[in-house]
Amino acid sequence: MNRFKTPMGEIEITILGHASLVIKWAGKNIFVDPYSEVADYSLQPKADLVLLTHHHYDHLDNEALRHIIATDTVFVTNQGCKEHLPHANVLIQGDKFNYHDVGIEAVYAYNIVNKNDDGKPFHPRGEGNGYILDFGGYRVYIAGDTEDIPEMRHLGEIDLAFMPKNLPYTMSDPMFVKAVEMVMPKRLFAYHYFELDVPKLKAMLPRGVELMNK
Ligand code: ZN
Ligand code: ZN
Repeated sequence: MNRFKTPMGEIEITILGHASLVIKWAGKNIFVDPYSEVADYSLQPKADLVLLTHHHYDHLDNEALRHIIATDTVFVTNQGCKEHLPHANVLIQGDKFNYHDVGIEAVYAYNIVNKNDDGKPFHPRGEGNGYILDFGGYRVYIAGDTEDIPEMRHLGEIDLAFMPKNLPYTMSDPMFVKAVEMVMPKRLFAYHYFELDVPKLKAMLPRGVELMNK
């Protein structure tokens, strides 16, 4: 578990594995992309808010969701999750949503280079979301399944980032480093990885970015 101070109070973030996070803030449990392969969700508390980046099975997972959904759980998702979750608040890139004064903005997440055999990107532009959560000016970037895309230059100041690193679906090490150079978060976690060479990555990252993975 990792604790961070924000103008809206402390947030506690647990990385359950893959792209699955739990953010505890002000007594609320905020889940990101809950995935039953990486954690036993029957042991997790009920969700006040669930953020889903896209519909792939490792991000939209009914087995994980059924344990944490309560009658008043709020969903924020991309369009592709809406058919499975009719009550979801759908954001397209650029859209904003307020959850108890926590700002949520959807941003782009997509592949340019990595494609299926049919030539279609694994994650086409406009389909999936990344999110920026704004806790009174402390901004947390959850990148989603993405490569190093030009939109990353224009995210504004990022205090804490979660960025994916695996092939073929997201980024190689050099792509990850390029992405980090665009975002320049103060603190950074790699997530959605199969393997991670922390000392090697640390040596490649720009100065001023603290890689938090141990
Ligand atoms: Zn995906
Ligand atoms: Zn994924």
